[in-house]
Amino acid sequence: MASEYGLVVATQKMALYVRLSHMQSAPLISELLKSGQKSFSFEFMPPKTEADEQQLWRAIRELEPLHPTFVSVTYGAGGSTRERTVNVTARIARETSLTPVGHLTAVNHSVAELRNVIGSYASAGVRNVIALRGDPPGDPNAAWVAHPQGFAHADELVRLVRSAGDFSVGVAAFPELHPRSPDEETDISYFVAKCRAGADFAITQMFFYIEDYLRLRDQVAARGCDIPIIPGIMPVTSVRIIERSIELSGCKVPPGLLESIRAADARGDKAAIREIGVAYSADLCERLLAEDAPGLHFCTLNWSRATREIYQLLGLGGPRAGQAPVLSGFTGTAPGQ
Ligand SMILES: Cc1cc2nc3c(=O)[nH]c(=O)nc-3n(C[C@H](O)[C@H](O)[C@H](O)COP(=O)(O)OP(=O)(O)OC[C@H]3O[C@@H](n4cnc5c(N)ncnc54)[C@H](O)[C@@H]3O)c2cc1C
Repeated sequence: MASEYGLVVATQKMALYVRLSHMQSAPLISELLKSGQKSFSFEFMPPKTEADEQQLWRAIRELEPLHPTFVSVTYGAGGSTRERTVNVTARIARETSLTPVGHLTAVNHSVAELRNVIGSYASAGVRNVIALRGDPPGDPNAAWVAHPQGFAHADELVRLVRSAGDFSVGVAAFPELHPRSPDEETDISYFVAKCRAGADFAITQMFFYIEDYLRLRDQVAARGCDIPIIPGIMPVTSVRIIERSIELSGCKVPPGLLESIRAADARGDKAAIREIGVAYSADLCERLLAEDAPGLHFCTLNWSRATREIYQLLGLGGPRAGQAPVLSGFTGTAPGQ
C-alpha cells in the first residue's frame, strides 16, 4: 500500500515536472512581440473529419518553412471539436518547430471547465492563449447567454488565464466594431478593459478597409493602451469565403472586389478569383506594414497556397520568425479600388 502511495506521488511529481518544463521551454508571444520585430502568424481550424485532418497537417507542414512567429488553432463550438482544438494545438507543440497559441472561448463552459482546458494547454506546453467570449453555437447572431457558472465577457477569461500561470494572453479586436457594440466609444472602452485585465496582444477580425484598422489602433492608443494589435487577414479565394465572412462578421467588402470576384466566378475562372483575392490581400498587407502594423495574422482555413502566394508577393519568408519584412516593392493595384 505504502509503495503504491509512493508510486502515485512520484507519478504526480513527474507529471508536474513535465508540465512545468514544457511551460518554461515554449516562448511567450508577449516576449516575442516586445523585441519589436514584426509578427507573422497563421490561423488554423480544428478538423472535422479524417480527410480534414490530413489537409490541416499538409497545410501546417507547407507553412512551417515560412517560420511564422506563431500559429493558432481556433476553438470549436462544442464537445469533440473542442477536444480536437486542444489535441491539434498540443501536437503542434510536440511535433513541429512552431510556437502554438490555443484559442479558448467562454461559450457553454463553467469556470471549472475553463480551468481544465487551460490546464490541458499548460500540460501540452502551450503558454499562449487567445481568450474570447465566443458566439452562441449554431446561430452566431442569436441572443448571448452566459453559462450560469461561467463568464459573460472576454475580460473575465483574460483574468482567469493570467491567474492560472505564466501565460501570454491575446484578445480579439474589431476594426468595424463588434456587431453587438452599440457605438464606437463603447466598443473601444470594452476593448481597453480587456487590455487592463491583462491582455498582451490583440488580433483583429478580418477587414478590407485599412482606415478601419488605423482608426481602431489610434483610438486604443489615445486611451493609453499600447498592446500590439495584429491585423487579421483573410485571403479571398472564393465567392463562398466572402459571403460567409459577411454573414459571420458583417464586414464591409469593397464593391469592386466583390464584383470582380463574382464576375470571375460566373465565368468559372477559379485561377482569376485566386489571383484577384491574393493581389488584393497582398496590397492590403503591404499598406498595413507601411503604416507600421506590428505584423500580420493570416486566416488560412487550413490551406497554405494563398498565404504562401501573399508571402511571395510581399517578399517575406526569411529564415527566422519575426524578422523585419523585406518588401519586394510589390505595387499591385487592389482590384476594385
Ligand atoms: C482574432 C479572432 C479570433 C477568434 N477566434 C475564435 C475562436 O477560436 N472560436 C470562436 O468560437 N470564436 C472566435 N472568434 C469570434 C469571437 O468569439 C466573437 O466575435 C465574439 O462575438 C466576441 O468575442 P470577444 O472575445 O471579442 O468578446 P467580448 O470582448 O466579451 O465582446 C463581446 C461584446 O460584448 C461587449 N463587452 C465586452 N466586455 C464587456 C463588459 N465587461 N460588459 C459589457 N459588454 C462588454 C463588447 O463590446 C462586444 O460587443 C474570434 C474572433 C477574432 C477577432
